[in-house]
Amino acid sequence: MREFILYNTLSRKKEVFVPLTSGMVGLYVCGPTVYGDAHLGHARPGITYDVLVRFFRHLGYKVRYVRNITDVGHLENDSDSGEDKIARKARLEQLEPMEIVQHYTIRYHEAMKLLNTLPPSIEPRASGHIIEQISLVGEIMDKGFAYVSNGSVYFDVEAYNKIYPYGILSGRLLEDLQSNSRVLEGQEDKKSSFDFALWKKAAPEHIMKWPSPWSEGFPGWHLECSAMSAKYLGENFDIHGGGMDLLFPHHECELAQNTAARGKGGVKYWMHNNMITINGQKMGKSLGNFITLEELFTGSHKILTQSYSPMTIRFFILQAHYRSTLDFSNEALQAAEKGLKRMMQAARDVNSLTISPDAEPILVLKDVTEGVYTALCDDMNTPIAMAHLFEAVRIVNLVKDKQIKINAVDKETLARLFEEIAIGVLGLTDEQSESGSGDVLNGVIDMILEMRRQAKANKDFSASDQIRDKLNSLGIQIKDTKEGTDWSL
Ligand code: ZN
Repeated sequence: MREFILYNTLSRKKEVFVPLTSGMVGLYVCGPTVYGDAHLGHARPGITYDVLVRFFRHLGYKVRYVRNITDVGHLENDSDSGEDKIARKARLEQLEPMEIVQHYTIRYHEAMKLLNTLPPSIEPRASGHIIEQISLVGEIMDKGFAYVSNGSVYFDVEAYNKIYPYGILSGRLLEDLQSNSRVLEGQEDKKSSFDFALWKKAAPEHIMKWPSPWSEGFPGWHLECSAMSAKYLGENFDIHGGGMDLLFPHHECELAQNTAARGKGGVKYWMHNNMITINGQKMGKSLGNFITLEELFTGSHKILTQSYSPMTIRFFILQAHYRSTLDFSNEALQAAEKGLKRMMQAARDVNSLTISPDAEPILVLKDVTEGVYTALCDDMNTPIAMAHLFEAVRIVNLVKDKQIKINAVDKETLARLFEEIAIGVLGLTDEQSESGSGDVLNGVIDMILEMRRQAKANKDFSASDQIRDKLNSLGIQIKDTKEGTDWSL
C-alpha cells in the first residue's frame, strides 16, 4: 500500500497516515444543521471528504464514514444563547421542527447526490442519540468537569484547563479567551462566558425536549459529535473532519469533552477544509452573496451570469487544495466548465483510440501516472493530480490527431487513469453522455427559445410569456441575459 500523508490540524504538520486498525479507516465528519437549503458552504466539505473516502478505498482500505445530521441543539449564535436554529425555522414556517428536519435532510441528500458524493456508511441524527448524550454528560460531571446551573449543565473550562490544556486544537489560549470574552445575554447561568452547554434546560414552549436528571431539555451542539463518533467508531478513531469554521469552538469543545470523559482526545488526525469566498468576500446572508446549490445549478442568483452544472462545481472545488481558500467567480467557474468538458471528452475518446502494435512506449506516461498518485498521497493534492491528468488529456488528443501512435499497453494505462482516478477517485462524471439524448433536448429547447425571441422581437409578449410559462411548468427554467437566454432543468 502506498504511503499516504495527511496534514494533522492537531500537530500542525503533515504526518504519514497509519490507521489504528490495519487496513481500516474510521472517519467522522460533521454534517449539516438541517434548517435551510444546502449551499456552497456544504459543497466543499461534501466533496473533500468524498474524495478522501474514494481515495482510501482505491488504495485498498475499508472505510467507515460517519457523517451526522444536526437536528437539535444548534443555537443561533453557535454559543449557548439564542433560539435553536431548527425550532426558529419551524416557528416561522408554522411547521413541526421534525418537518423542517425531514424536508431539509432530503434536500441536502439530493444536492449531495447531484454533486456525485457517495452517501456516508452511517448517518446518525443528534435527536436519535439523546441517551448516549445524557450518559456522556454524566461521565463528564463524574470527573468534575461540569456543573449544573438552573437545570442546565455547563462544561467547566477553567477546571478542565487546570489538568488538560484547553485550546490545543485551535491554538487559542484560555488566558486570551478570558481577556476577550464579553458577557452575552442569556449566559448568566455560567461561571465563565467561555464555558459551554452540555445540556440546556428548555423553555416551557420549547418542543424538542427530553427528560434528563437535570431538567427537561436538550443537548448542547458540541455534545452530539463526541457521543456519536464514539458510538460508531470507538473511543479512539482515525480521522475527524469538518470545515475550518468548525475548528473553534465546535471541535475544540468536542476534544475537551472527549478528554474530560475518557482522559484522551480520541481522534488521531484532525482534518479541516478551508472556506469558500465569493468574489473575494466571505459568503453571508447580509452580504447578498449567499448562494444555495440549487441557485448555482439553475443560475437563478443575481450574481450569477449563467447556471453551472453540479460537475462544474465539483471540478472547480477540486482545482484548489482543500486547505486553501477558494474564490468563486463567474469567470473561474466558466474556466472550470471548459476544463471539465476537455477532461471528459478525453475520457470518452481514449476508448476509441486506434492501437498501433508497433508504437514505441510513450515515456512521459509513467511520469503522469506517478505524478497523479504522488500528488493524491501528498495530503490529497487534487490540483496537482488534475494538472497531471491534463497531461494525459494532451496525450489522448495527440493520438487522436494522429500526431503520435499508441500501443495497447499505453492505451490501457491511459484508460485506467481516467476510469480509476478522474471518474473513480475525483468522482467526476460525464454529464453530457449521462443525459443520453441531451443533444436532441438542447436542440429542441434552443429552437423553442428562438421562437420566443422572435415573438418578443414582434412585440408579441403574450406569446413569449406563454412559452416561458409552459417551459417553467415542464421544469425548465429560463433566464434572459445580455448575451441571450440561458436555460436549465
Ligand atoms: Zn460536529
